[in-house]
Amino acid sequence: MSNSPWERAQKLVQNAAALAETSPHLLAALLVSDRTVEVSIPVEMDDGSQRVFHGYRVQHNNILGAYKGGIRYHESVDMEEVKALAFLMTMKCAVINIPFGGGKGGVRVDPKKLSARELEELTREFTRKLSLVIGPTLDVPAPDVNTNPEIMRWIADEYKKTVSSQKPIIGSAEQHPEAVVTGKPLDAGGSEGRTEATGLGGSYALQAFFKEHGEDIRDKTVAVQGFGNVGRWAAESLQKMGAKIAAVSDSRGGIYIPDGIPDIAAVYKCKKASGLVAGCYCIGSVCDQASSEEVLRPAGRMCDIKNREKMRGHNITPEEILTLPVDILVPAALEDSLTAGNAEKVQAKYILELANSPTTEEADAIFEKRGVTIIPDILANAGGVLVSYFEWYQNMHGERWSKSDVFEKLHASVETAVTEVFRTAKDKRISSRTAAYVVALRRLSSSANPAPFRHR
Ligand code: GLU
Repeated sequence: MSNSPWERAQKLVQNAAALAETSPHLLAALLVSDRTVEVSIPVEMDDGSQRVFHGYRVQHNNILGAYKGGIRYHESVDMEEVKALAFLMTMKCAVINIPFGGGKGGVRVDPKKLSARELEELTREFTRKLSLVIGPTLDVPAPDVNTNPEIMRWIADEYKKTVSSQKPIIGSAEQHPEAVVTGKPLDAGGSEGRTEATGLGGSYALQAFFKEHGEDIRDKTVAVQGFGNVGRWAAESLQKMGAKIAAVSDSRGGIYIPDGIPDIAAVYKCKKASGLVAGCYCIGSVCDQASSEEVLRPAGRMCDIKNREKMRGHNITPEEILTLPVDILVPAALEDSLTAGNAEKVQAKYILELANSPTTEEADAIFEKRGVTIIPDILANAGGVLVSYFEWYQNMHGERWSKSDVFEKLHASVETAVTEVFRTAKDKRISSRTAAYVVALRRLSSSANPAPFRHR
């Protein structure tokens, strides 16, 4: 039986702690969460009925700085999941070297079943419930699965209203309340480049890995599982670097064009319009060259047979994307996609983990045995929280950085972290995942209290 992401995280940190010479005190602190908060969120639905949703915020550790991490809206959210994800944030912030700790939040809800008003009310009520435990120097949420800049705007706005009407018990009255949350729209204090940051950071991480190992990203084929904001920007950026994006998918299926999807942005647009990736292979530049009856059909659209053959493209299932004959697999969806059941069939030689915890322990062992290189989650997807830090910094200092400035800083930080992790892996002859934990633990050790207080 596979263990849960939280159990997995605990085992990983225990293994790495021995190699990083982590003190027993720090290790004990990291094996638990500093604080877990569970709230009820009553919402009046559009039909007048009342529903109560369950929300969570976990503050794992703040040795390096304020708790930091996203809020996800998903039906699978529970305390165990949020605890694991908060733990990963502590490690992620440490590995990418920013002064933040780890936190995470979520609401158990399928947001696609809510109206815009219900979603806003849910978010505002959740924020009111969290207002005493979040704050710019205390705990700073951000987007995650199924949350976006607009939702972050509501959080910032509601937080501002709440703290101005009541004196917070925890945290000080802030001069920069908008810094309570990152991933905001630009006009609400967001940063240039935050939307693209996680996907782009992932592509920089892969590029840095190839550079370090004298390999070339050009003409490598890629399959991206999960075509939300993260998968989309990773695909676009990898394509710009010369890789061929052969397949992309969402939870209901995807498309596969062995010669490479010509226009990633058009596929994303198609997905947004129709709600599905499947069928989105006859669009944009492809269809521009095709005859008029082959153009995008709004819902459930499919290419006709003639065009399908011309493009050699076809629909694939969400499982098939993981085992396609590609060089690089990018899991960018939820936890536990790569398991003992499919790891032997994965053909890719490189796995860029843009999702958090996409690989089970058994799958990890199989990949290690087979010599598959993994760019582990806490390194691969750290670009998101890194640019969140840039946003927070700009808010706190009243600055505005240009997009090119943000991308330059993102590139440099990711490259440094990748080099550090893979050199550690080589020196210590350990997996890249363990090495990432060793790097993170060393950084945490150097900020932790040297020894617990003792009476003489
Ligand atoms: N949700 C993202 C993550 O898992 C970003 C967190 C943040 O920006 O705080 O890394």
